[in-house]
Amino acid sequence: MTTHVLVVDDSTMSRKITVRALPENWAGEIVQLDNGADAVAACRDRSVDVMLLDLTMPGMSGFDVLEALREIDAAPPVVVISADAQPKAEERARELGARGFVRKPVQPDALAATLRDAGLL
Ligand SMILES: [Mg+2]
Repeated sequence: MTTHVLVVDDSTMSRKITVRALPENWAGEIVQLDNGADAVAACRDRSVDVMLLDLTMPGMSGFDVLEALREIDAAPPVVVISADAQPKAEERARELGARGFVRKPVQPDALAATLRDAGLL
């Protein structure tokens, strides 16, 4: 089973905004998850093309998810979607393998530009 896009965020509203900001032709195969543990499990169970990942979540944070993905073969590329404006957050996310970083509230243009920069669009 293939999931093209995994949107992981504990906030329903944030997930909605992210989904709305996705490129239009990605609309078919989107799975939304509200926690990091399910996101890691999903990457073990199925093929995921790209994960859009919040950082601040109860339980596993986005950083924890990035760390866990390092142990998974063929883990998907991750773009972080975060309200954390501190340069350190982006730096750490990139160190852990994030391919891009988009600030909330995510705008379609900013997301598309980041996906393009990461070679994902
Ligand atoms: Mg959050």
